[in-house]
Amino acid sequence: MSLTAGVIAVQGDVSEHAAAIERAARAHGHEVTVHEIREAGIVPDCDLLAMPGGESTTISRQIHSDGIAAEIVSHVDTGKPLLATCAGLIVASSDAADDRVEELEVLDVSVERNAFGRQKDSFEAPLPVEGLGDEPYPAVFIRAPAIDTVEDGDAEVLATWDDRPVAVKQGPIVATAFHPELTPDDRIHELAFFANDDAVLESADQSAST
Ligand code: GLN
Repeated sequence: MSLTAGVIAVQGDVSEHAAAIERAARAHGHEVTVHEIREAGIVPDCDLLAMPGGESTTISRQIHSDGIAAEIVSHVDTGKPLLATCAGLIVASSDAADDRVEELEVLDVSVERNAFGRQKDSFEAPLPVEGLGDEPYPAVFIRAPAIDTVEDGDAEVLATWDDRPVAVKQGPIVATAFHPELTPDDRIHELAFFANDDAVLESADQSAST
């Protein structure tokens, strides 16, 4: 199947996410074209999306002023997968406890920015993640948020660090406080996009027939 992917390209590890998506797609027998999203009008063509880290204040402001924000919300409303990482998780949340962040409110969690403190600004941890098998995931945390509250609803905690949730899944969304694009281990991208790829394949199928 030939897929179309998008990486929100306001800031962050755009090319690393694109490369991880390409590897994960290939491992599942799919071709993929990855678009770097800097303007409205491309997300509606995408079968899957990644929203990288960076600075959540800047990313949220930019995607709202570009008109990309509403397109991301429709994308997940139609059941297509979104992987939101680090600042991406903050932007996707329902409450970032910071007026400068305009949340998308697609993920029913509240978050605390920079939750792991200064001396631990950046660290790598072997993280057990639900759905990835026995091998811990090499999770890179960079000024990472933590999830404060998982509101009643469908959000399921996939991983915790220091007793705080750092990865969740809710419907078509997988969100991590860490940076899965910075390691060669593609299991988070595979989990987000291909563990149950019905929505991705259906979307690609519809695009192919129009
Ligand atoms: N600290 C950043 C924020 O609050 C997130 C850091 C990251 O994405 N690596 O937006």
